[in-house]
Amino acid sequence: MHKKLFIPGPTEVVKEVRDAMACEMIGHRMKEFSELYNQVIPKLQQILYTKNRVLLFTSSATGCMESVVRNLSNKKTLSCMCGAFSDRWYNIAVANGKKADPLKVEWGYAIKPEMIDEKLKTGEYDLVTLVHNETSTGVKNPIEEISEVMKKYPDVIFAVDAVSSLTGYKLEVDALGIDVILAGVQKCFALPPGLAVMTVSQKAAQKAKTVENRGYYFDIVDMLKYDEKGQTPSTPSISHINALNVQLDRMLAEGIENRFARHKKMSDTIFNWAEEKGIEKFPEKGYESWTVVTLKNNRNFNISELNKELGNRGKTISNGYGKLKDITFRIAAMGDLTPSDINELLNDINDILKI
Ligand SMILES: *Cc1c(COP(=O)(O)O)cnc(C)c1O
Repeated sequence: MHKKLFIPGPTEVVKEVRDAMACEMIGHRMKEFSELYNQVIPKLQQILYTKNRVLLFTSSATGCMESVVRNLSNKKTLSCMCGAFSDRWYNIAVANGKKADPLKVEWGYAIKPEMIDEKLKTGEYDLVTLVHNETSTGVKNPIEEISEVMKKYPDVIFAVDAVSSLTGYKLEVDALGIDVILAGVQKCFALPPGLAVMTVSQKAAQKAKTVENRGYYFDIVDMLKYDEKGQTPSTPSISHINALNVQLDRMLAEGIENRFARHKKMSDTIFNWAEEKGIEKFPEKGYESWTVVTLKNNRNFNISELNKELGNRGKTISNGYGKLKDITFRIAAMGDLTPSDINELLNDINDILKI
């Protein structure tokens, strides 16, 4: 039996999109490919509220994260760290021999604008990496306020990992002054894993040209050169790009604002249920994610047993991430799930736990 995915990625993929993965193949140097590419990019620009170029990466989102630290810093990176994925970005910088300093808060807490301001005042940094929605803790960082601080430092590149929020939460990339925003398509985009998207501002494009040893596969300068021709430097996952085109049409048909509202409604439903059942929120108050609802396991449920029973009913949720495994559990409200899916899930949980 298929288990409906209420986990923070990969998410459920609707049949129309799965079918689009099984398209007839075209060559990536054929005009048919550039036509497809040139349909996809403007839709992405519309949905991400940007005039910047959007690059397609045939990799998971981690590939984009590596590209950012290799391509966009020749001084030092300020790595904002508040959980496993933001920690990963720092580790990637170090693994690539780049200079990076941690700006670290305890898991469950958000990065505050004044913390970044304090660090940037030193003038030591040319890149800030920030995870918008920290999937391991369910914390949504205050990106609107942080973006105001970033505007004081026009020489610093502002890079945002929005893997678990992009298209589920309104992120107006240009208005927020985000130079680079990235996401894998297996989360709120609701496509199969294996493709990632990343916007690149003029400023970031110029910066990349000044950086040595940008690597080869994800060299932004090279990717932008091919982008001008409606191509990618190497053979991309054409099936994914075809499916992305179909999914972007579905998003536009739903209405992108409606899509954000649906995500909010789903998470509100989960939070209300939790409150009613005496289940506490894990994140710091006011910074709770709308897409990865992370709850404290303060009632000491056996989450693996619960998940086994849910599995028998064709559903699955997530336990806590890493060191939070038994302390929290997570219900993702992402992609193409609907409020009625969430209601059904919560009814099953009530029934199984007799709460
Ligand atoms: C899932 C996730 C990643 C990693 O994405 P991959 O596509 O598995 O490489 C990075 N950051 C965040 C916030 C995520 O949720």
